[in-house]
Amino acid sequence: MRLMRKRVKEAGVQILDHSPALELLVDEHGAVAGAAGVHRQVGETWSARTGSVVMATGGCAFLSNALGCNVLTGDGHLMAAEAGAEFSGMEFSNAYGLGLAFCSVTKSLFYNWATFYDATGTAIPGAGSSHGRGVIAKTLESQPVFACLDRTDADIRAWMRRSQPNFFVPFDRLDIDPFTRHFPVTLRLEGTVRGTGGLHVTDATCASSVPGLYAAGDAATRELICGGFTGGGSHNAAWAMSSGFWAGAGAADHARAARALRTPRALLRAGRTILRDGGANAPIDPAALIRAVQDEVLPAQRNWTRRADLLEASLGRLDALWHRVRGAAVSDRSQMVRAREAVAMLAVSRWMYRTALVRTETRGMARRQDYPAADAAQRHRLLSGGLDEVWVARHGVRHEANEDIAA
Ligand SMILES: Cc1cc2nc3c(=O)[nH]c(=O)nc-3n(C[C@H](O)[C@H](O)[C@H](O)COP(=O)(O)OP(=O)(O)OC[C@H]3O[C@@H](n4cnc5c(N)ncnc54)[C@H](O)[C@@H]3O)c2cc1C
Repeated sequence: MRLMRKRVKEAGVQILDHSPALELLVDEHGAVAGAAGVHRQVGETWSARTGSVVMATGGCAFLSNALGCNVLTGDGHLMAAEAGAEFSGMEFSNAYGLGLAFCSVTKSLFYNWATFYDATGTAIPGAGSSHGRGVIAKTLESQPVFACLDRTDADIRAWMRRSQPNFFVPFDRLDIDPFTRHFPVTLRLEGTVRGTGGLHVTDATCASSVPGLYAAGDAATRELICGGFTGGGSHNAAWAMSSGFWAGAGAADHARAARALRTPRALLRAGRTILRDGGANAPIDPAALIRAVQDEVLPAQRNWTRRADLLEASLGRLDALWHRVRGAAVSDRSQMVRAREAVAMLAVSRWMYRTALVRTETRGMARRQDYPAADAAQRHRLLSGGLDEVWVARHGVRHEANEDIAA
């Protein structure tokens, strides 16, 4: 990170730390031409007029306290959707990290050497990290699950300590030997961070479906490199670096072309939800909204293996929430960032569950209890978007025709 900061500073880039973007700016044709946000430490606003924007705000993990994820609330998804952008693969959004029940560390590679136990110390049949995480999810619905890294020998233990020292920090702090003691584990939703859905990428420059808006890293769909399942591993960071490179080049070309036209553009603020005066609507309470969204998306019994009736019930409540907050404001502008995060989580949850409902099969991490097998007729992508009305459309890969399939 330090090296990257040094390089961009040397290139003349101004970095705004602690200054989240709240909305995009668009020209009169709807092309993205800037962004605006707030300097958190002084409470002042900023805006930047640009030739183009690369959305690189990461995925959405719904504030589940998973390692490194609690700054990833889908803000960029909301901003992009307000400018009219489409998403792809939002049904591939239910990654759950496995980790200690009492801390945020979800690095799960080493659980491949674990045995999973119930509270009586009996091994749980079929439970595992890479294969058998569903058994853990199911067991956690009714009772605690414990793990022990007891399928290791001295060499593997030494290698583990060397290769991922941060995995052991919480154990060492509590004086727990994970190789011999049983310790409680849980599953934390990592959403689209270790899922694959995100902004629909329309060409090799990582352009989104809105002119002037490009997408990189976890904010963009990763279906292009790994379909409906990522798992851990280096391809995710590789995609972030490569898509960042391509999106940056594409955005620079777009900006140069826009500048060559030399037409001064009047910019409009694309942000809608809660950024303006709420009129007569009651102000929103960000904490309450966050809890309400989490109630629908965090429980593994709703989201790990989905089912039509549960999805429909959640969508009924999430849609109702949306229609309550869409015209509201915040009571105090210091809550604006948190409120936009809450609204972004709400928006992401609706694209996630609406696409999950339309994918009537089990493919990658899009698991359905009511459709447990893959369906060869559904080898298409699902695009989605919209705020007040969420839509889903089939997007053919290879030679399939595209057609709208659900509103
Ligand atoms: C526990 C864990 C372990 C992982 N291990 C690996 C691994 O071993 N190998 C691998 O390749 N990948 C791994 N990944 C995945 C990898 O971390 C991601 O794919 C990668 O970080 C994506 O980079 P990114 O820049 O797109 O997004 P991020 O790294 O998530 O960065 C997004 C940034 O945007 C900022 N942001 C969000 N909203 C706003 C806003 N409104 N305004 C301004 N900024 C905003 C966030 O604060 C954040 O700094 C792991 C992920 C997790 C969660």
